Amino acid sequence: MANFLHENDLPDGLDLGSVVAVDCETMGLRVYRDRLCAVQVSGGDGDAHVVRIAAGQEEAPNLCSMLSDPGVLKLFHFGRFDIAVLYYAFGALAAPVYCTKIVSRLVRTNSDRHGLKDLVSDLLKIEITKQEQSSDWGADRLTKKQIKYAASDVLYLHRLRDRLDERLVREGREHLAQSCFEFLPARALLDLAGWQDTDIFAH
Ligand code: MN
Repeated sequence: MANFLHENDLPDGLDLGSVVAVDCETMGLRVYRDRLCAVQVSGGDGDAHVVRIAAGQEEAPNLCSMLSDPGVLKLFHFGRFDIAVLYYAFGALAAPVYCTKIVSRLVRTNSDRHGLKDLVSDLLKIEITKQEQSSDWGADRLTKKQIKYAASDVLYLHRLRDRLDERLVREGREHLAQSCFEFLPARALLDLAGWQDTDIFAH
């Protein structure tokens, strides 16, 4: 269910299908300060690959070719952060992308709870724990709990997308979601370029 790998051990060309869930674990939320420690990927088949990123590692060719492959849709939850982190770490801009948090904001306007745990609970009736979120991801060896947690951040994104897409159709907001996804990589680049606290559309 959760495979623990190094970048070089990834399946050749990282062929996980045409829709791949992606998430990152870092030392914190400041991209320029807090290094990338793990990248989790899943093809939606119930398996998650937790890829360890070493301190100072500057290349991840298998991951990067998947991230920039126009034929692979990358699923994120709050992709704005992960896209920025991955671009800063390896210079690969993820596209095309889908973000479950953006869709949640577009269709679950009845709720102000758009965290992954809330979505998985509300839409899939599955309870996941976020206990390990702030654990030490830079440790030499990750614990079983950490690997399980890291896997759970990508294992449900395909099913969430199915539920969320149904709601997008119901509410007639597919085109808004698509436009947001197309802008999302640029939004991540704006964050890195210094506009992280600015709404560039504001008056
Ligand atoms: Mn995560």
